[in-house]
Amino acid sequence: MKKSESDLNSEALFKRMEHTILWSVDQDGLLIKSFSPNADQILGLIPKKNILDYIHSVDHEEVNKCFGRVKEVHQVVMQHRFFRPSGQSVWFQTELSYRPESQEIIGVSQDISEVKTGFTSVAVDEEGDKLRGIFQFSTDLICIAGVDGTFKEINPAFEKTLGYTEQELLSRKFLELIHPDDLEITKKALKAMDEGHPIKDFENRYRKKDGTYIWLSWMGHPIPGTNLVYSIARDISEKKKAVKELEKLVKETSSELVKSREFLNLVIENVPHMMFVKDAKELRFVHFNKAGEDLLGYSKNDLLGKNDYDFFPKEQADFFTNKDKEVLTGKKLVQITEEEISTKHGKKYLRTKKVPLLNEEGEPIYLLGFSEDITDWKTAADLRLEMAREQTLSKEKERAQQKATFLASVSSVLASSLDFRDTLEKLAQTIVPFLGDWCSILFIKEEGTIERIAIHHWDLKKQHLIEKLSHYPGSRTILNSPTFQQTLKTGKSYFFNDVTDKELNRLALDEEHLKILRELGTHSAMAIPIIYGDKIYGAISLNLADKDRTYDQETLLISEEVGRKAGVAIENALLYRTAQKAIAARDEFLSIASHELKTPVTSIKLLLQMTRKSVNPATGAGPSAEKLAHVLDQANDQVNRLTTLIEDLLDVSRIEMGKIFYKFLPLDFSHLLKEVCSRYREHMKSFHCELTCSIEDGLTILGDRMRIEQVIINLLTNAAKYGEQKPVTVTLKKMSNSVVLEIKDQGMGIPQDKLSKVFDRFERAVQASNISGLGLGLYISREIVEAHLGNISVVSEVNRGSTFRVEIPIYLGNAST
Ligand code: ADP
Repeated sequence: MKKSESDLNSEALFKRMEHTILWSVDQDGLLIKSFSPNADQILGLIPKKNILDYIHSVDHEEVNKCFGRVKEVHQVVMQHRFFRPSGQSVWFQTELSYRPESQEIIGVSQDISEVKTGFTSVAVDEEGDKLRGIFQFSTDLICIAGVDGTFKEINPAFEKTLGYTEQELLSRKFLELIHPDDLEITKKALKAMDEGHPIKDFENRYRKKDGTYIWLSWMGHPIPGTNLVYSIARDISEKKKAVKELEKLVKETSSELVKSREFLNLVIENVPHMMFVKDAKELRFVHFNKAGEDLLGYSKNDLLGKNDYDFFPKEQADFFTNKDKEVLTGKKLVQITEEEISTKHGKKYLRTKKVPLLNEEGEPIYLLGFSEDITDWKTAADLRLEMAREQTLSKEKERAQQKATFLASVSSVLASSLDFRDTLEKLAQTIVPFLGDWCSILFIKEEGTIERIAIHHWDLKKQHLIEKLSHYPGSRTILNSPTFQQTLKTGKSYFFNDVTDKELNRLALDEEHLKILRELGTHSAMAIPIIYGDKIYGAISLNLADKDRTYDQETLLISEEVGRKAGVAIENALLYRTAQKAIAARDEFLSIASHELKTPVTSIKLLLQMTRKSVNPATGAGPSAEKLAHVLDQANDQVNRLTTLIEDLLDVSRIEMGKIFYKFLPLDFSHLLKEVCSRYREHMKSFHCELTCSIEDGLTILGDRMRIEQVIINLLTNAAKYGEQKPVTVTLKKMSNSVVLEIKDQGMGIPQDKLSKVFDRFERAVQASNISGLGLGLYISREIVEAHLGNISVVSEVNRGSTFRVEIPIYLGNAST
């Protein structure tokens, strides 16, 4: 059934009435006279005397004002809050009307909480209502409080946080809920606000309904002109708890840290070596341990804050500081194996390690040093060193003694004979085992071939191997090594140790040879030249079979000395041999010279005796003038021959003494040669030699006429003497820049092995008794030609003749005879 309009109105009215309370109070607006029945449901059952007890304290002032005003205007509308039985406040709008007849004030209060909180279909657009929404739903505790210590208005968060009802909170002084310990500071804060100063981050403890306390952090602002403040608080109990726990943790940790620091200090203090820390900037000591104090003799107090220059001599301080800088710039550990330090107890030696201590950026901030006192060790080491040195010295002395004895025996062996073969044989026996287990001595013969003169092993049991080895060719028996051949060539010595079997294999000439070398044992080898000045006479090969011995520089030097001594011995032996030969040559020369000199003298003597016999002074008889002339000519020839011999001898002595003096002038060689040849043609005929000349004209040299003539005569005379009566050809021609003279005979010729010697002193290729001569002509001729910057040579064949060739530089200036 459809409701009528009046039904609907009365329904709305009832609905409205559900939230409406009627009440009356006395004219002062204090004592309650009556309440509508539904007031119980809305405001609770507990009867209160004063209407203000039901009203929010913040609204009291306004309500009181309205009570006063209603008596004048009879009707007033006001908004205020009633407390609900739950303790919550609810907004009501109350119409007050004054009944003068009964002297009472009637109030009709209607619940407007939905409108006030904004949770209504009715749009709320007033700013104040929005703020109220925040107020209602904030989890922070928001309130208006009096500086007298009471809450005037609180938001629901108070109830939720503290557990009290709004009413409970508004009806008592909040100071009662403050933790006794925080009471004083809270009062101070209130006072400050009363004086107009806002507070911030003020913390105090509130007792909750359950008796526990929570921490609140307050922000308060005084409302000017009132005794009220706006305050907001936040529960920071959790934060406080966390901070407390953190503090506890920090405390625990720092006590741990203190403990570990103490432990570390204990360790450092008890480390038996000096430990110190310097700051990286000024290198001043910032830490020093006990061992350091003991070592240096200074206390920590003396040391800390000071640097090296305050304690140590400048030189030492410089050294320490330089090392510190090396550590800090290099940012790495530096070790000082030994450093001297002057301490209060005297000079000490330290072994130190220094490390940089770096900050997070990797920059050094400190330097940590760790020093070990090695004074005792060093003293002991020095002592050991001294002992070792002494031992070495005595060993060296012994070795020097051995060396001297050895070299003396070598010298005596080398001086024992002038037969170098014999000497080298003995030498081989002397140098082993001092220089090697076995050795071999090679000699380079005059013609360049190599001959093994001696081979020897100190161990007689090995001698059969040596004998086997001696069947191999001399130059290759020892080590078929290119290096060894090098010694023979260059005179350089060398040694090498650890000869491998592979190398022996390479050096051996055949299987048998390898077997011998293996059996002999060739672990190390040395090659030493036998030298005299820059002459290489041969080499000594030394070999070590014993693996415990190796060659070294010292043995090489001794061996080289042996090589040099052997060189001197060979040189002496060869000189002796040469001297012997020279003596023999001189003897031969003397016999030839005396024969040569005697022959013309005998002839002259005979001629004189014969002539004397034919002269009779008593009768005046004598040889015919013709005969006398013949005798005198013959005597003259012999005197000339004698003069030539004597001239030659004098020339030799002049050459020896460097006293031949030349008069170099432009000389027409062609002219001179023609003249000598025409003069000698007759003389040649006496040897039955026909002389043919082919002389190019006008060839000039710069020469000494007399001496060049002497050369031509020598060669012509020889061609006649050794030409065996066969024709002799003389040719003179120009060849490039030289004048070339050739005198060619077809006589006996010169044997090949004598060819190089015919230009030497007293050398005669053929001891032909029928051909006179001192063996000086060619020697003198070579000296003269060489003095003219020329060259003399011979090409010859036995029984086919000889061609002597003289070459002298041509003279390009003006010619003269
Ligand atoms: P000698 O007085 O012996 O001739 P030389 O010095 O002139 O001295 O000659 C040296 C040696 O050279 C001679 O003894 C001779 O054996 C050899 N000789 C020199 N010229 C000739 C030649 N034309 N033919 C062969 N042998 C020669």
